[in-house]
Amino acid sequence: MQIGSGYHKKILPLYLIIIKKMIDTSAFQGKKAAYYTLGCKLNFAETSTFGKMLEQMGVSPAAKNEKADICLINTCSVTEVADTKCRQAIRRMVRENPGAFVVVTGCYAQLETETVSKIDGVDLVLGANEKADLVQHLSEAWSMPREGHLHQFQSVKTHDIRSFQPSCACGNRTRYFLKVQDGCSYFCTYCTIPFARGLSRNPTIASLVAQAEEAASEGGKEIVLTGVNIGDFGRTTGESFLDLVKALDKVEGIHRFRISSLEPDLLDDELIEYCAHSRAFMPHFHVPLQSGSDEVLKLMRRRYDTALFAHKINLIKEKMPNAFIGVDVMVGSRGETPEYFEDCYHFIESLPITQLHVFPYSERPGTAALRIPYVVSDEDKKHRSKRLLELSDRKTADFYAQFIGQEADVLFEKASRGKVMHGFTPNYIRVELAPREAKEEFDNQIMRVQLGNFNHDKTALRATLI
Ligand code: SF4
Repeated sequence: MQIGSGYHKKILPLYLIIIKKMIDTSAFQGKKAAYYTLGCKLNFAETSTFGKMLEQMGVSPAAKNEKADICLINTCSVTEVADTKCRQAIRRMVRENPGAFVVVTGCYAQLETETVSKIDGVDLVLGANEKADLVQHLSEAWSMPREGHLHQFQSVKTHDIRSFQPSCACGNRTRYFLKVQDGCSYFCTYCTIPFARGLSRNPTIASLVAQAEEAASEGGKEIVLTGVNIGDFGRTTGESFLDLVKALDKVEGIHRFRISSLEPDLLDDELIEYCAHSRAFMPHFHVPLQSGSDEVLKLMRRRYDTALFAHKINLIKEKMPNAFIGVDVMVGSRGETPEYFEDCYHFIESLPITQLHVFPYSERPGTAALRIPYVVSDEDKKHRSKRLLELSDRKTADFYAQFIGQEADVLFEKASRGKVMHGFTPNYIRVELAPREAKEEFDNQIMRVQLGNFNHDKTALRATLI
């Protein structure tokens, strides 16, 4: 085991028994921390929570270009590229903050603990169970002698990852991310999430309602429900996702809820019906498809077929004709022959969806997908991605164009003085307000606008206040 040198340079116990004792935070008063997050919304929400935890210890965020005393890197391992970016980010943080105490957590830290701990300058690696007790682990580590410690690695098994770290983080003043679920029990053949984040688990509806009420009391207007497999909510508590949605819908002060993503097989017809008439759940859905070929879906061990997916999309549009529907697609997965890709392309083309999030397949060590013999070349992956992205652009532009000339309520977000102000309609159309109309007091306010034409780079519709 590598032992660091110099200021706090040591690798600390990774998966130790949590030592319950009063934490003395005096050593942290006045310290500065820098954060770096890679990956999904859930990671960003969790990093905000880590920031709040450290602030309670007296640690404030380091300003841009200010040297930090503590660096926290929250990693992702969704692709090989993500792994590389994590290693680069860790090294950069170490280089830019000489002598800082460096903590690494997140999916890559969980899956590649030894690799991460061997990076020069890393002091503490926290796995999925340990990160909820960041403060405790950091305090323990901080007070230990700086050199000469040998620590033993003990790898965490998937079923051991059971802690749930609550998180309701404020992305900007307007939007909060409420973590309603963590982990996944699906084991799709290409995915490492169950190994990185553990099995599906969730807190109670009552605790989530309390967090939403707190966000409302802080002035939050919009909450995005985040998680890994949100529709699986209830495994731990025996409650249902629909009951959670109904309970949150009653939280006064929150004007908008969005659901970050729902597996098609868990997107109940009843939930769609409810959202169509709810007070605050927006006509905005994100449904991962991954492939529009039934043969590839079987190879991926996804729990639905294209017929079920089409039924869900068509039902959303029947109940909420203006709904925005985002869809994830993975291209070039093992087994995706040119014919299967064409099936996928035409299936997506036929559906009333709004936007595609296209991901090229990336080989992940230890996954069952590696046993599928047919491999797609990088060149074909690029070509397929390009075709789907072009299709996505056309669909998004057609969707936006339907609303030109109509009125809408837009929740505006903070803008720098003299710059255009942005916001979103209920159905997630990005709207731009010219600097001459934008005012600071519109930040975090819902304003009625008339939607005009596309802006210069076609990423938003121009709007005028009514
Ligand atoms: S549903 Fe499948 S792809 Fe999504 S996190 Fe779970 S295992 Fe991974």
